[in-house]
Amino acid sequence: MRIAEIETRRLAVALKKPFKTALRTVHTAESVVVRIRCHNGLEGWGEAPPTMAITGESLDSIEAFIQTVKPLLIGQNPLNYERVFPILQYAAIGNNSAKAAVDMALYDLIGRSCKLPLYQLLGGYRNEIETDYTVSVNSPEEMGEDATHYVKSGFTVLKIKVGIDDIQKDLERVREIRNRVGYTIKLRLDANQGWEAKSAIRAIRTMEDLGLDIELVEQPVKAYDLTGLKQVTDAVDTPIMADESVFSPLDAFEVLKNRAADLINIKLMKAGGIYRAETINRMAETCGVACMVGSMIESRIGISAAVHFAASKMNITRFDFDAPLMMVRDAVQGGVVYDGKTIKLPDNPGIGIVNIDW
Ligand code: MG
Repeated sequence: MRIAEIETRRLAVALKKPFKTALRTVHTAESVVVRIRCHNGLEGWGEAPPTMAITGESLDSIEAFIQTVKPLLIGQNPLNYERVFPILQYAAIGNNSAKAAVDMALYDLIGRSCKLPLYQLLGGYRNEIETDYTVSVNSPEEMGEDATHYVKSGFTVLKIKVGIDDIQKDLERVREIRNRVGYTIKLRLDANQGWEAKSAIRAIRTMEDLGLDIELVEQPVKAYDLTGLKQVTDAVDTPIMADESVFSPLDAFEVLKNRAADLINIKLMKAGGIYRAETINRMAETCGVACMVGSMIESRIGISAAVHFAASKMNITRFDFDAPLMMVRDAVQGGVVYDGKTIKLPDNPGIGIVNIDW
């Protein structure tokens, strides 16, 4: 199997409601879709969304990276992946989402060539998972209404975005949602770097004292502030999860060796694809740190790749894959199948994408 052609095309699908976090507001899910064709007729699909505020990448930069790496990959056999993935990683510094798009297309090809669904090729720990649903940061009342709506739709784990303005207001947001949904629903918070260590500690302790029963708090402080992250982790009982602080395996090493967080959120778009995400998960597992896998605002192409990876590993215990449910239409044929909060992995080879309704 030899790579013959690598093509890209842009996909844009509107969201039902703006996705709002402490870092950005998204109205439309945009991405660069990559298709790698081999001489034997097999095709692999990948995707990368532009998240300037997180990875620094745009639609243009993603396409430019893929153009750069294309001549290096044409003629290579994806099955020789210890040769191929380093070519991809070392073609340029950064560009992690663009790398992830190519990486998942290569894994798709490897799976198709072996006639195995990717989750089985990667370990086959389970073949279905349950996703949480994200409540965008808005007024406490609006968030309470949104949370009620998602619970009525069958979701039992909510991820609440906070960290945008005043930490006291975040407490109101969490109390409002807890009052509305009751205590059978799991609530996880994501401050997206919006707090500072001392005020985060005070807020999380207050939530503990009020018995708000928060499952975990994601990325309370700035991505670079590992000292602050560790301060928070050491000072509260609630588990703290690193997200924007961990892009690469080396970032994971820094967090793990200092025990700066209790949990790590792996995203293919930060890690540069499944090859490096596997390394991060193994390192975390070795250190007794469980992982979540999440996504950016991606269509079911990128999500399918991430779900295959996440489902395959025992150490990945939490799943944040609601992005396709936020879109006004599903442009993707094939891939993983949503049934309410459950996501099922069909036994089609590779990641299983068939076609896109552009
Ligand atoms: Mg996060």
